[in-house]
Amino acid sequence: MQDKIVLIFFGPPGSGKGTQGKIISQRLGIPHIATGDIMREAVANETELGKKVKDYLGRGLLVPDEIVIQIIEERLKRDDVKKGFILDGFPRTVEQARALEGLFKKLSIQNYMVLYFDVPDEDIIKRISGRRSCVKCGSVYNVFFGPPKTPNKCDSCGSDLIVREDDTEEKVKKRLDVYKQSTLPVLDFYSSKVKKISAVGKIEEITESIVKIIQN
Ligand code: AMP
Repeated sequence: MQDKIVLIFFGPPGSGKGTQGKIISQRLGIPHIATGDIMREAVANETELGKKVKDYLGRGLLVPDEIVIQIIEERLKRDDVKKGFILDGFPRTVEQARALEGLFKKLSIQNYMVLYFDVPDEDIIKRISGRRSCVKCGSVYNVFFGPPKTPNKCDSCGSDLIVREDDTEEKVKKRLDVYKQSTLPVLDFYSSKVKKISAVGKIEEITESIVKIIQN
């Protein structure tokens, strides 16, 4: 029997996948694997991968499937995924979902759950326009819904908070278009595996509804 907990957090940009991913990861003691975070770090560190993906991230476009699939393939080889893991921001195309099926087969993973974070477009624009990220540790705040204790400073490490390059209104609209065109079809691919949660409301309440679904 499979004893791993495997969760796929699915939803539009700004739906809270990252925030909840970090919380659930701590609660369950399994890693939160976010392809966006991995690539932003690579860009910041100017690695080979970073150079390849920088332009896509800056423009709010999807990075080519083969690059992202390889990132996940490498990441799932690490020891810390033994108890399970949370995927956030992957898969984002049907092609990526197919590749993930193949990987799961190799890793003998039969059971996994797709949690769909449902949020209306208007809320997304507001949430993302208020989002501030720590330049150093990546902690995320929201000036409207979850501000830092000191304006523009990270509660965890004291570093400056910035607006992500792709969080401007114009780029968010582009990312939402990309989501609707390329990513939403992934929901059909998973159909019966999908559990929908209303991701509007207080962070703690959403966490509890996720925990309930996982326990069931
Ligand atoms: P996120 O932090 O999940 O909003 O991702 C930020 C950006 O990283 C996206 O707009 C894409 O440019 C890129 N990205 C992250 N995950 C993927 C993925 N699975 N496939 C393609 N591009 C991705």
